[in-house]
Amino acid sequence: MEKLVIIGSGPAGLTAGIYAARANLSPVVIEGDTPGGQLLWTTEVENFPGFETGVLGPELMQKMQKQATRFGSKLIGESVISVDFSQKPFKITTNKQTFEAESVIIASGARSRMLGLPKDKEYLGKGLHTCATCDGAFYRGKIVAVIGGGDSAMEDANFLSKFAEKVIIIHRRDALSASQIMQARAKNNPKIEFAYTSEVIEYSGSNGRIGELKLLNSQTKETSILKVDGIFMAIGHIPNTEPFVGQIKLGKNGYIEPINWVYTDVPGIFVAGDVADWRYRQAVTAAGFGCMAALEVEKYLAGKE
Ligand code: NDP
Repeated sequence: MEKLVIIGSGPAGLTAGIYAARANLSPVVIEGDTPGGQLLWTTEVENFPGFETGVLGPELMQKMQKQATRFGSKLIGESVISVDFSQKPFKITTNKQTFEAESVIIASGARSRMLGLPKDKEYLGKGLHTCATCDGAFYRGKIVAVIGGGDSAMEDANFLSKFAEKVIIIHRRDALSASQIMQARAKNNPKIEFAYTSEVIEYSGSNGRIGELKLLNSQTKETSILKVDGIFMAIGHIPNTEPFVGQIKLGKNGYIEPINWVYTDVPGIFVAGDVADWRYRQAVTAAGFGCMAALEVEKYLAGKE
């Protein structure tokens, strides 16, 4: 029987691991398919406090892993398939075994929705990005495209225009879905252009980096080639909540809805990071969220004892 099982190994899960291990809870951290989480897909991280000259995403996560294990977190390279939170002890089943736990922190994160093109993975981090605030500064004086027509696309395009020479918003329909104020901000920005009724149907490039997009105009059915230095996906995120459906309260958008800070509707089950955060989605906010969850678990277990 474990005192605490943490599901997820991004900044939220590992920060929770650091705090819980220092509180002598010997947490088990189930790492999932991508040990280290979404930061593995980024290159330089320049906005994580404490790294004044930046740090590579995978290196930052390696440091967090070492810090968590130094204090006694047990990192398990398995993925959670299902859980049973209907009775105590809680049961967490991975692809290899079942853990029993007095408490659980769900920090399973979210993933960016991708176009589903064959080269999605090949170009990820090599000209294809999922976080404008993380990677935008690398495109000073360059031409970038943002895919999507919602608030994220508008916000990302405005952010990217601080660095890029030109930003092209590529949207599949002829009308944006973003709020009026966000649309107006993007439309009034002289560096931002729009390609409506356009679908990206292929990426290509040279030296392993993206350089060209093939676009299909859904009205004229014509295809065209757009040369870009980078593209940013802004077509939404998918929270990694599949194993928790029916076990815990999810919000309308599929994210876990905490009932109070990091508490969920099931006493003993806590939540941290992007799996409950569609708004900020930053490594540093996820880390803070993980810290909060671990502190509450400590109180919860002490209260129980
Ligand atoms: P949304 O779901 O709002 O928008 C997604 C956009 O991507 C839509 O324009 C959609 O097109 C497009 N899209 C979806 N799938 C595909 C696909 N397969 N191919 C091409 N295009 C696709 O996501 P956001 O991330 O923009 O926003 C999520 C939430 O966060 C919203 O509630 C938003 O208001 C909020 N938000 C708020 C901000 C703020 O207030 N500052 C900033 C950012 C987000 P279509 O319209 O055709 O479906």
